[in-house]
Amino acid sequence: MRLTVIGAGPAYSDAAGAVGACYLVRSGERAMALDLGHGAFAGLAARIPPESLETIAISHLHPDHFVDLVPLRHYLRYHVQPARRARVDAHSELAVRLDALHAEPGFTAASLEVVPLTPGSRSVGPFTIEAVRVAHTADSFGFRVSDGPTARGLVYSGDVGRAGDLRVLVRPGDTLLVEVSFGPGPVPPGAMHLDGPAVGALASETGAGRVLLTHLLMGRDPAATIRSVTDRFSGPVELVEPGFEAEL
Ligand SMILES: [Zn+2]
Ligand SMILES: [Zn+2]
Repeated sequence: MRLTVIGAGPAYSDAAGAVGACYLVRSGERAMALDLGHGAFAGLAARIPPESLETIAISHLHPDHFVDLVPLRHYLRYHVQPARRARVDAHSELAVRLDALHAEPGFTAASLEVVPLTPGSRSVGPFTIEAVRVAHTADSFGFRVSDGPTARGLVYSGDVGRAGDLRVLVRPGDTLLVEVSFGPGPVPPGAMHLDGPAVGALASETGAGRVLLTHLLMGRDPAATIRSVTDRFSGPVELVEPGFEAEL
């Protein structure tokens, strides 16, 4: 599989051009996306016809992870001829949220086929997507994506307040694409996000092959964040930005 980072921002940023979460995963000629946060649609569409995606898996219903389903919906309805529908694997509340945003019942269903997420494994095209519930919001999931039973996987945290919730997904050698909102830490009480020490401990305990850090809040020091992970994990650690690519 090949990973392309489309967007790696948190919910707000002062970095010009920052966009919300979106990760393109390819297996040969086939592709899927993880999340479609604010501002991510254009970067996605610049790289691949969005209607060719097997699915877009949405980790949870915070706008920095799903709100660019709105431009995707308009693109499918008004640009693609004949109009197409796209598959979205997401919490069953998704259509209610998007319909309410537009005060238009049926807004979502017109162009998006929402397949409700539940914990467990599902096959979509060449991809196996495993989902677990994670502590963040009541509708939050973490994912492992792979394209074969012995293939190395990509474990994506979404947003998560307990690193241990991801442990069941990780197999030795997997790549962890994991949020590190609070940088070197600590995480303030009650904030359902991670810091570098928690990510490093998870990677070390699970035998992960490498760590890709994302979703760093503005004002946090990138170098100190990476150090807080490498203090606990001896494998490669990078902080990703839009345009980052990796073979998994
Ligand atoms: Zn987020
Ligand atoms: Zn969130």
